[in-house]
Amino acid sequence: MSERAAPFHCPYCGDEDLRPNEQGHGAWECGACNRAFQLKFLGLLARGLKRADDGGDERI
Ligand SMILES: [Zn+2]
Repeated sequence: MSERAAPFHCPYCGDEDLRPNEQGHGAWECGACNRAFQLKFLGLLARGLKRADDGGDERI
């Protein structure tokens, strides 16, 4: 698994003009809205890859 995950769209304005930020480690900056943000991998979900499209997790 690659350590770097590249976003395809800015999470704020949705533009694709993203470039790596000099802070590194998942830091990106958007050329369209001038925002800098950071992606962080939090870990795998305990519930696995099952899709939660049946109304949520209320039965757990
Ligand atoms: Zn943006």
